[in-house]
Formats: sequence, C-alpha cells, structure tokens
Amino acid sequence: MRITYACPSCEATVSSDDAETKPVLVCPQCTAAFDVPGDAFGWSGPGGEPVAAGEGVPRLRRCMVCPGNELFTRKDFPQRLGVGIVVAGLAASCVTWAWRLLVPTFAILFGTALVDVVLYLLMPECLTCYRCGARYRGAGGPFGGFDLETHEKHRQQRIRLTQRAAPGRPPASPVS
Ligand SMILES: [Zn+2]
Ligand SMILES: [Zn+2]
Repeated sequence: MRITYACPSCEATVSSDDAETKPVLVCPQCTAAFDVPGDAFGWSGPGGEPVAAGEGVPRLRRCMVCPGNELFTRKDFPQRLGVGIVVAGLAASCVTWAWRLLVPTFAILFGTALVDVVLYLLMPECLTCYRCGARYRGAGGPFGGFDLETHEKHRQQRIRLTQRAAPGRPPASPVS
C-alpha cells in the first residue's frame, strides 16, 4: 500500500511505500513522526474475508494520518494527463480543420476521447481521505464513491478549525 499525504507538521507532500508495514510515519522534510492508529487497517483475502495480519491485502478502516474514518474510492487518474491528451487532440484537429480535412479532424477528436476513456478504465482505484486528503493506492476498504455532502461537511470543519487557530486580533485598546 502506498500512501501520499500532506505532513501534518510542515504540510510537505510525503509518499511512503509499504505503509502497512510501518507503525510510525516519518516526514523526510521536517522529521516529524506520528503513530499510525493500531486499528487503521485489517487484512483481507481475495474474497474480502478477514485473514491474519501480513497476509492478503491491507483493508483500510480509517485514515492512517488524521485518522478520520470517512474515505472515498476514485480512479487514480492523473488529471493533467487527461487534459493534456484532449488539448493535444484539439490542437491537431485545428491543423487538419485548417486544411479542410473533415474526416481526419473528426477521427482525431474521436480518437483522443476514446484514448481518455480507455486510460480511465485501465487506471486502478485509490482511496482518498475526506478530512486530510491522504491518498492510498493498493488498499481495499468498505468505502463508496465520492459524496459531495460528506466532502462539504469536512470542508466546513476545516474552515472552522483554521478560524479557531488564527482568530482575528482583538481591537487595539485606546491609548490614553
Ligand atoms: Zn513534515
Ligand atoms: Zn485523513
């Protein structure tokens, strides 16, 4: 299982392979270390049945970082790559369109869309934590797809937390 998260201490993006073997996650930037909750994940066999620790695949119960228990499943598709393919297709079709090559123009547009769809289908799924945004690859879990309501709940919570951490300065007292 590979985990990518923002260090809670210095906010650097940290990636760690074989996260399931590490009881403590250490930030390579600021060397801050934090314990992984003992109940963060269990292990499951090919059919999803629980197996002994270290066998089968790790199955997340909660986030290893924050440790919220609300995560969502989504395709691990690099958005920049998808947009890049579409932009390249558009640019190429502009050239063929300028040359009044109707069939190649549509073939390019259709082809790039098709490549995007196929790539999307081939991409593995990853888990993302609503609260802290940590991403997990190669882990299973009882989590569904993205839910806007849950996302909004955590967004509001984050805003409240930052406001509490940095409250507006009290008005300066008048100097007599
Ligand atoms: Zn750090
Ligand atoms: Zn989290």
